[in-house]
Amino acid sequence: MPSDNGDSRNAPIPPNGVIGILGGGQLGRMLALDAARLGLRTHIFAPDDPCPAADVVARRTIASYTDEAALAAFARAVDVVTYEFENVPAETVTLLEGFGARVAPGAKALAVAQDRLVEKDFINRIGAKTAPYFPVDDIASLEEGLKQIGRPAILKTRRLGYDGKGQTTIGDNAKDLGLTWEEAKKKAWDEIGARPSILEGFIDFSCEISVIGARARNGDIALYDPPQNKHRGGILRTSTVPASVSVQTIAEAQRIAAQMLEKLDYVGVMGAEFFVLENGALLVNEFAPRVHNSGHWTMDACAVSQFEQHIRAVAGWPLGDPARHSDAVMENLIGEEAEGWRDLAKMPQLGLHLYGKVEPRPGRKMGHVTQVKRRTQS
Ligand code: AMP
Repeated sequence: MPSDNGDSRNAPIPPNGVIGILGGGQLGRMLALDAARLGLRTHIFAPDDPCPAADVVARRTIASYTDEAALAAFARAVDVVTYEFENVPAETVTLLEGFGARVAPGAKALAVAQDRLVEKDFINRIGAKTAPYFPVDDIASLEEGLKQIGRPAILKTRRLGYDGKGQTTIGDNAKDLGLTWEEAKKKAWDEIGARPSILEGFIDFSCEISVIGARARNGDIALYDPPQNKHRGGILRTSTVPASVSVQTIAEAQRIAAQMLEKLDYVGVMGAEFFVLENGALLVNEFAPRVHNSGHWTMDACAVSQFEQHIRAVAGWPLGDPARHSDAVMENLIGEEAEGWRDLAKMPQLGLHLYGKVEPRPGRKMGHVTQVKRRTQS
């Protein structure tokens, strides 16, 4: 049963209240664990059973995101609905709102984050910069985009891409592949499923950082120190704090993230990813309207993790202090890497987090570790 919030929808959800979470992956699991620390219950709504979050929540609904009867019952059973992945169908949020649920972050943030073209337009409109981009709907517009942007370039689907999926690089090496230039273009277009896309200029960045930021219902904002992120094959490998960038670059990344939170009238935690150029200038790559893999280090190196922060925000609580008490290196355990848990469990100053997934498929995030050490710089 949802808690009695009195007659004000703006009152904070008190302990024993219920946070509804769409999605049952590891992010839902870690949200549920931190909600429990605050005395809040969680109820997940997910299509897959089993799923990593199911082990640690008070209630679960296993149903499709378009199952209206299940969504109506879910809306009645929870005090607020949030989500742990950005590809929640817009229709699901509309239905939940129609059934009287409060959904945070709201439909606007979700709509912007779900479409790379809308997202890039939004970022440029608020005065931040992105890689050059061009909308692609067919081979002719791909041709035009390549003329304007040049090569190498990356073709990315507008929707439903994650962890480097739904994207392909178009280089100068069609001949190396034994293809004509026409064939190389066709191959790239087919590779991304011949779907509405954007062509992005390839950025020769010096490093990547991200800002994990939270905005409360009352507009308060809390920003974590940006980690420096390394990817392999489009998948995050490590996040390190502090990042080796200047204090000016950090301040500018945090300023842009705060502006994004404000302009989207955002409630909850967001992960904003940036490319840092040689001269320290920043380009926004993308943002995720949810807790973010590059924020996992906050579980071991901050008093209030990104997961607790998100729960606080969507429950209408005051935000917690995002300061880090330790330096940290977070490393994802991908595929079979998690099999090394016995050795990892013996290591000093290492936070070990396993997601309870049974099958270690290649590329699958099975857990992460965070090595912490005493903080060295402000
Ligand atoms: P994405 O799915 O767009 O976040 O891309 C995953 C990773 O691919 C990024 O974190 C970068 O390491 C790399 N990447 C994406 N877009 C670009 C770009 N325009 N130029 C260079 N590298 C990129």
